[in-house]
Amino acid sequence: MPSAPDSAPACEALFARARAVVPGGVNSPVRAFRSVGGNPRFVTSARGPYLTDADGREYVDLIGSWGPMILGHTHPDVLAAVSEAAGRGFSYGTPSENEVALAEEIVARVEPVEQVRLVSSGTEATMSALRLARGITGRSRVVKFAGCYHGHVDALLAAAGSGVATFGLPDSAGVPASAAAETIVLPYNDVAALEAAFDTDGEHIAAVITEAAPGNMGVVPPLPGFTEALRRITREHGALLISDEVMTGFRCSRAGWYGLEGPYAAGAPDLFTFGKVMGGGFPAAAFGAPAGLMAALAPDGPVYQAGTLSGNPVATAAGLATLRGCTDAVYAHLDHAAKTIADAAASALTGAGVPHTIQWAGSMFSIFITDRTVTNYDDAKTTNAPAYAAFFHSMLDQGVHLPPSAFEAWFVSAAHDDAALDRVLAALPAAARAAS
Ligand code: PLP
Repeated sequence: MPSAPDSAPACEALFARARAVVPGGVNSPVRAFRSVGGNPRFVTSARGPYLTDADGREYVDLIGSWGPMILGHTHPDVLAAVSEAAGRGFSYGTPSENEVALAEEIVARVEPVEQVRLVSSGTEATMSALRLARGITGRSRVVKFAGCYHGHVDALLAAAGSGVATFGLPDSAGVPASAAAETIVLPYNDVAALEAAFDTDGEHIAAVITEAAPGNMGVVPPLPGFTEALRRITREHGALLISDEVMTGFRCSRAGWYGLEGPYAAGAPDLFTFGKVMGGGFPAAAFGAPAGLMAALAPDGPVYQAGTLSGNPVATAAGLATLRGCTDAVYAHLDHAAKTIADAAASALTGAGVPHTIQWAGSMFSIFITDRTVTNYDDAKTTNAPAYAAFFHSMLDQGVHLPPSAFEAWFVSAAHDDAALDRVLAALPAAARAAS
């Protein structure tokens, strides 16, 4: 078992170096531990369900790189695929077979998607999907839901979840009012609000973008009928529906959230975005749709979109090996591992008298320290962030690395075996007492 970490001198020294040359010492804000206090651990290696930091301390990892590491770290098949691909060159700037194979794998899994364009991040995927929707409809406005995060795209950084929620920002500085003016932010799971927005503005709305099952305000799945209503209302008004599956894609099921909830009676979403799992820990993401919509993209159509590293041969090799490794047995194991942890967390929190709500989207889950059922961002914000911080640090001290924010999903992997789960279970009672 890891020892109690009162100090982490090597991590602290690295963080001091980092702060001098990197804003806040991190390359993505939520890594900074600001909302839970303290300083981040600097990881030197990762294998299976474990991270090892610069002080040699090992943690059971429940961040999973914020979603991609579905098979666990350094999975032998993915490592072999990456090594083999890297041995044949790092980037070509001309087409290569793995791009085609990865696109085929995605298209085979998500039935409404006939074509995908590969990009390097989820942000690029949603940004490009929005441009495509605007290009196709000739309209400019877009509806998003409070608490949903779609990457750091200007137009989508309004009332966003993830780090924006963690730091309590209403919006980001630097987003021009003109960009935000085209964005209509509505409460999640509220059909009446959506109908009202379309009654007022319907002819100007190009698209509604939604996380397929939000995980960036903590996990807040759509209420029964909500996604159907999105589909019905967008179709009635000639707007497109973009289902952002960057987090849920290939994680909630073989076909992501769509595989659990779809097909919808009112029809499939028009556009899908993917990322995280499909890159297997490397920068690969995608947006996709029926071929008729994708035909609007350059070089055949008028909507421009491009990328130097799009379809990178090493990233596509990692993504392909990861998706091929995501078998039915893997999904069954993810469900088992997540349920084992969540059940034990619930009983530890109940034992310590801490009110809590656990919410699910497939094997993605999060624990809100609140007595409310969480159906939207306002509910999510009732979670007791200081109590979560105490819980987080107790777990960290006991060798379990949770997401350093109360507004994030917890991710398990196929590598979370009994030994790793036992470590998590052993840590939960003390963490629950710390949160009380
Ligand atoms: N969309 C969703 C649902 C996400 O969760 C994220 C990232 O967390 C993104 C888009 C942006 O992806 P990336 O961080 O790869 O740019």
